[in-house]
Amino acid sequence: METSLHDKITILAGAAKYDASCASSGSTGYKGKGGDKIGTAVHGGVCHSWTEDGRCVSLLKVLFSNVCKYDCAYCVNRVSADIQRSSFTVKELVDITCEFYKRNYIEGLFLSSGIFADPDIVMEKLTETARTLRTEAGYGGYIHLKIIPGTGEKQIREAGLWADRLSVNIELPTEKSLNCLAPEKSGKTILGAMNDFSCVSCEYEEARSKPKFISSGKTTAPWFAPAGQSTQLIVGASGEDDRQIINLSSSLYNKFYLRRVYYSAFSHPANRGGFELSGFNTGICDKNYTDPRLPEIIGPPLVREHRLYQADWLLRFYHFTAGEILTEDEPFLDAHIDPKTAWALRHLDFYPIEINSADYETLLRIPGIGAKTARRVIETRRSRNVSFDTLRRMGAVLKRARYFSTCSGSIIDRPDDPVRIRRLLSDIDGAGLQLPLFEF
Ligand code: SF4
Repeated sequence: METSLHDKITILAGAAKYDASCASSGSTGYKGKGGDKIGTAVHGGVCHSWTEDGRCVSLLKVLFSNVCKYDCAYCVNRVSADIQRSSFTVKELVDITCEFYKRNYIEGLFLSSGIFADPDIVMEKLTETARTLRTEAGYGGYIHLKIIPGTGEKQIREAGLWADRLSVNIELPTEKSLNCLAPEKSGKTILGAMNDFSCVSCEYEEARSKPKFISSGKTTAPWFAPAGQSTQLIVGASGEDDRQIINLSSSLYNKFYLRRVYYSAFSHPANRGGFELSGFNTGICDKNYTDPRLPEIIGPPLVREHRLYQADWLLRFYHFTAGEILTEDEPFLDAHIDPKTAWALRHLDFYPIEINSADYETLLRIPGIGAKTARRVIETRRSRNVSFDTLRRMGAVLKRARYFSTCSGSIIDRPDDPVRIRRLLSDIDGAGLQLPLFEF
């Protein structure tokens, strides 16, 4: 029986649902040749995906195909899963994307695929979709393509000419876990693809800065994936601790200049909400699936995922090193308090910090003061002193900052007992987790 386009969308959008590595942050928009384009990646919108600056954008997030030769234990699309399989054609995907865009349903396309053939062939299908959207359909919206592990540098080079962002999923923190849960994948291949991306990206950046490409103040060299590369790491499917994960993220940022590492709390394929379509499992849920290699956890470890995102912010925006966030003695992030407060409580002798004299980096060490507030403090101090009241109006979370700072020598309150401060600042109470993501 032939699958209708509606059913294909249901199946292939459901199959892509658990890939967290998409956000259109960092793109300045596709700048290809040609006249008017449909859509732009620069403007904001609603639903689906959070960008780096806190915007929420809607992406059509689908697989090109959920047919896959690989058997990754954590994945609903693995070859051994008894699910309905389907694939788009390039034309179908191009038409759907343009149609959805024109109707204002989406602001961009996130396209991945199961590995239904040789990785180069699969990658070429994704690239062909992006290329057709750009060159034939006049589409100027956001495109994020997944790099298929095992694909060559030539394919990555071509894909980056049409996509805003490329990403290859690192999946698990160690080679040992990959061997166990995704035996057909290898860390070497995944890191190799990241390395290829960053080399080609640097090459284009250099070319764009050369005088021969610059005419009337503007560069004429082509763009290569202007929103950079990202990756996704599954948390809780294997036994690694948070320290191993944060160390890995830190080296990925430093070595390959990744824009983002996305952490995806492991959700067992058997526990995912799913439904059947024409008597087949759509691939979202795999009710009867058991695998002794997978942990038996009731729900995805969301608090852990959230703390890892906070620790990741410390690496990227607060000038912390991985070694400061977690140590050999404390390899897991505290579920009750954010990692910056945890660091502050381990280093109480570093505090209180005087708001009116500390430099930018030191201000960033005060729990409750984020990068924006720290910049505002520095700016305001040029003309006048900052009081606690001004600090609050600037966006600081005084509930936290009060225990670790002084304003012109004055203190609100500062109990010396770290246990008491920890209790007062705990994010978890009877009602569950309160989530301060920004300015923590
Ligand atoms: S290669 Fe990708 S789609 Fe295929 S089983 Fe592994 S995670 Fe799933």
